[in-house]
Amino acid sequence: MNSPPQTRSMWLPGGAASVDAQGRPVLVGGECRACHTRMFPKTTVCCACMSEDVADAPLPSEGTLYSFTQVHVGPAQWNKPLVVGYVDLPDGVRLFSHLRNSAALAIGGPVHLTLGQVGTSAEGEAITTFMFAAGEQPQ
Ligand SMILES: [Zn+2]
Repeated sequence: MNSPPQTRSMWLPGGAASVDAQGRPVLVGGECRACHTRMFPKTTVCCACMSEDVADAPLPSEGTLYSFTQVHVGPAQWNKPLVVGYVDLPDGVRLFSHLRNSAALAIGGPVHLTLGQVGTSAEGEAITTFMFAAGEQPQ
């Protein structure tokens, strides 16, 4: 995996988000080696069986939108309104994420992982992070 783009990024600690050789975002969660429960972000203790044997697990880049909302108040540097929601991945992980604002977002609809700008820093740098967008993953 390569380094994140040279903009100010909101990557999660511990390498939970990165980009692959093609520049596509990759989320790395955890998988319990005892009960195989997957999670994002990765934790040191499995929330299902309390095992401390949790390994890194790359997560699927496509999922289903469980729920979402639009937020009109936030930090001064962030684009508003911002759209956030929960995405269900096919491996059982439900994660909270920024969403690319689009009329195509629909509860139960397909979403795919992408990168996007969520704001601009006081120094004028784009603030980017992973987010999900409506639709299938472009080929
Ligand atoms: Zn477990």
